[in-house]
Amino acid sequence: MTIREYTFEIFRFDPARDDEPTYRTYALDVPEGMTVLEALLRIQAEQDGSLAFRYACRGAVCGSCAMMINGREELACRTQVHGLLEHTRTRYQGADRQEVEEQDNDGTIRLEPLRNLEVVKDLVVDMDAFFEKFRAVEPWLRPEKPHPERERLVEPEEWAEAEPYTNCILCACCHSVCPVEEEDPRYLGPAALAQHYRFLTDVRDGADDERLVLVDGAHGVRRCDFVWNCVRICPKGVPPTEGIAKTRARITRREKSSGEKGRPTPKEVG
Ligand code: SF4
Repeated sequence: MTIREYTFEIFRFDPARDDEPTYRTYALDVPEGMTVLEALLRIQAEQDGSLAFRYACRGAVCGSCAMMINGREELACRTQVHGLLEHTRTRYQGADRQEVEEQDNDGTIRLEPLRNLEVVKDLVVDMDAFFEKFRAVEPWLRPEKPHPERERLVEPEEWAEAEPYTNCILCACCHSVCPVEEEDPRYLGPAALAQHYRFLTDVRDGADDERLVLVDGAHGVRRCDFVWNCVRICPKGVPPTEGIAKTRARITRREKSSGEKGRPTPKEVG
């Protein structure tokens, strides 16, 4: 088994004690197959018990361990350290967030918290703003009444449109990579809008008009710039931008068919 020494440059910041964030470096012998999460657990156990990071399932289903790994949003539990050498590094430069790919990976792994969320400590971010947006799109079924005597059956071909959006694990990688989230913190954002489309397109749901109003404000689907970062970065293959485009098309069709002028007043977040 190949073992190689890596240097981990880890973002450290405790708002209760520090004025500015710093990067602290840790050297670690990493065997083949070790993930970034396992490396963090080793560093925490053997070198620095004060290091804070979040994780739960270790199997890429809870989304808790999302962080910036060499400049790119990833799940630490499914990213192998040795594999990072095969990839280019990503750096974001300046306010326009231009991505620059670097080839010279020298065995240094930089770990940082997700962007566009407040840092609680080190690699742990405050997810409240993210979940508030999620709740604002009312991600639960609102079926038509009266309720049937038996269950509502859904044919596989009817489910195919909604299915990709059910794979979201709420990791917030898309929230971090979205440039509109950075410009407009009240923007509902790719994860919430993907969930919104999941229910909008569910054949059992009967609240289309109300749902479209929820996302048709100044911070809703019309705010998306179609950068597609969220689709590229999502670890579960959810396509938020596609859902946003389809939702916008539905809003346009609804306006045309009702001869509506101007927009309804949606609920606002924040
Ligand atoms: Fe994470 Fe993808 Fe869900 Fe965004 S859409 S929160 S990137 S799983």
